[in-house]
Amino acid sequence: MIPAAPLSQHPATSAAPAPRWQQLWRDAVRDPRELLSMLGLDAAALGVSDEAATQFPLRVPHGFVARMRRGDASDPLLRQVLPLDAEMRPMPGFSLDAVGDGAAKAGHGVIRKYRGRALLIATGSCAIHCRYCFRRHFPYAEETAAAAGWREAVAAIRADETIDEVILSGGDPWSLATPKLAELTDALTTVPHLKRLRVHTRLPVVLPERVDDSLVDWLAALPWPVTVVLHANHANEFDATVDAALARLRGAGALLLNQAVLLRGVNDSVDALAALSERGHTAGVLPYYLHQLDRVQGAAHFEVPDTTALALHRELAARVSGYLVPKLVREVAGDPGKRPL
Ligand SMILES: *Cc1c(COP(=O)(O)O)cnc(C)c1O
Ligand code: SF4
Repeated sequence: MIPAAPLSQHPATSAAPAPRWQQLWRDAVRDPRELLSMLGLDAAALGVSDEAATQFPLRVPHGFVARMRRGDASDPLLRQVLPLDAEMRPMPGFSLDAVGDGAAKAGHGVIRKYRGRALLIATGSCAIHCRYCFRRHFPYAEETAAAAGWREAVAAIRADETIDEVILSGGDPWSLATPKLAELTDALTTVPHLKRLRVHTRLPVVLPERVDDSLVDWLAALPWPVTVVLHANHANEFDATVDAALARLRGAGALLLNQAVLLRGVNDSVDALAALSERGHTAGVLPYYLHQLDRVQGAAHFEVPDTTALALHRELAARVSGYLVPKLVREVAGDPGKRPL
């Protein structure tokens, strides 16, 4: 092999080292057996599936693993990430594009389904892979807004004056490096009809180190009110590092909300739902949505029947303060918004 010019001559190598969160991201656990041995559990007994792990690989940051209980096969955090045989059983009614995103595309990585709001598929990457995720089959490679240098996405938003809120989603939008985010928001500041920015992210919960100085500075300098919709499904997902990250986001002026998915074996009890709302509130987060599962292939074993969901929601409302009760909703293709149950 003929060597290229020595690396030291490239200006890129003299740039600042990668941020710490990117290193932690790369160090995430990706082998189900390694994860289980860290927890003192036996893969065969749990029905771990290599086939499911090939289709949608396991990925979970070490910090999140540290919040799992050792020796507990039914740990609610473990259940969210472990590839199981149950995922490979075909189930009628569970499809590849459960929420109709394929049909709602309005430009590169832009989904326009609800009035006033444009949702940007900022990136396909996530620090954690959630087995129930409706995006596990979404064709990210072609559809991300960042891939086209944001140009088409920004043009689509600029062209439609009815859009007053941009929602950064994905994947996880905060998996992009801060300068990449700034590139987008700099371009969006020239769109006069924008009034709000929203970020849908699981990173402050699963990899709180992502909330670093550069992200906080970027957030604090944005010209619009910013809402950060987090995604935690269980109270155990919070710890002191998460609390600190959320305090920094609030310090930068963000309003913090949480959306959860109702998941069998994870949070399908009134105790778990009350604890989630209360623990979130301690960290400065109010509940927003409790989603009925999107009927995506491979997620059927997480489904909670509607009658059970409604009963849990009623019990929760009778138990906690009104502002700690999320809206129980389902996403239905073609609806003008999330549908209350
Ligand atoms: C969920 C969703 C939104 C946001 O809906 P809200 O009810 O305002 O939280 C916007 N666009 C799409 C495509 C969505 O799926
Ligand atoms: S989009 Fe959200 S729910 Fe889906 S895998 Fe990524 S972090 Fe998990």
